[in-house]
Amino acid sequence: MEKENLFGKTLTELQAIVADLNLPKFVAKQISDWMYKKRVSSLDEMRNISKQAKELLAEKHKVSFTSFSNVQESMDGTKKYLFPVKPMQFIEAAYIPENDRATLCVSSQVGCKMGCLFCMTGKQGFQGNLTSGEILNQIFSLPEFDKLTNIVYMGMGEPFDNLDEVLKSIEILTADYGLGWSSKRITVSTIGIIPGIRKFLNQSNAHLAVSLHNPFEAERKQLMPIENVYHLPKVLDEIRSFDFNNQRRVSFEYIMFNGVNDQTRHINELARILNGIKCRINLIRFHPIPGTPLETSSNETILAFQAGLKKKGIVTTIRASRGEDIFAACGLLSTKELVKQQKNEEY
Ligand code: SF4
Repeated sequence: MEKENLFGKTLTELQAIVADLNLPKFVAKQISDWMYKKRVSSLDEMRNISKQAKELLAEKHKVSFTSFSNVQESMDGTKKYLFPVKPMQFIEAAYIPENDRATLCVSSQVGCKMGCLFCMTGKQGFQGNLTSGEILNQIFSLPEFDKLTNIVYMGMGEPFDNLDEVLKSIEILTADYGLGWSSKRITVSTIGIIPGIRKFLNQSNAHLAVSLHNPFEAERKQLMPIENVYHLPKVLDEIRSFDFNNQRRVSFEYIMFNGVNDQTRHINELARILNGIKCRINLIRFHPIPGTPLETSSNETILAFQAGLKKKGIVTTIRASRGEDIFAACGLLSTKELVKQQKNEEY
């Protein structure tokens, strides 16, 4: 039987495991200190835990990290790390250094079931949820771990489709028993899953990013099937009902598609529907993917769109494209081809 990995367990979960083995409660805290503060990757290395306790734990449990199996580096310094998860399942994480920041974009699922028209991960389909440990492994196994300033959950998958594991991973990143990071260094992105937004806002303090991409429901539906389930006005009502003071931020991601969502009427409608929400819009150049008729808006159009939104009083930034040459940029993460290759090699 496969041993259960303790890495990725919250302190409460560790306490339950330790209690089951009739070990003293403080052993759970010792384990979390070794894993999350000292970042050791085996029970053997936990020096202040008794031999007997380690033997009991090791009967059904282990502590291990998974190293990345490949890394690609972009001309702009972005690195894309590939991590094996299960046989024939891989995920990618993008490390993005810039000036005094270093951001890691992590995956929360293998593939994704949301089917957004503009996204390679969506085209890959869904292969499974990541555990909290598998999410955190992307961070802890990163060679640049010590340089990280920010984590964004914007890699493969819809985080609110795997919210419990995402919340556990955020707890471990921010808790005193874990890394003790400020939750202001963490941003989680969603396409607008309302129950997930509610739970996330109530159970964490991390920033929220919502993929908006079109303010008109009928047009948004063409890009994002989720609009059939959770309508944008209801998503915005949910956000409006929450108090975003105390430095917590909500931002909206807006990929610019030529002739699709980049006209003056879109600016006007964005200003109308976002009225009353203290937020920022991030404009993102579209990175073309095979099999979609979508094209990116021109630089002039993106600049004009930004100016139009600013005139309406909406803080708007244009997100720099990073890692496009290694398919690490927004919407380009996919491990589908890799799985195909591996299958071919096996036959
Ligand atoms: Fe899934 Fe996000 Fe891609 Fe949509 S954009 S298919 S939610 S990974």
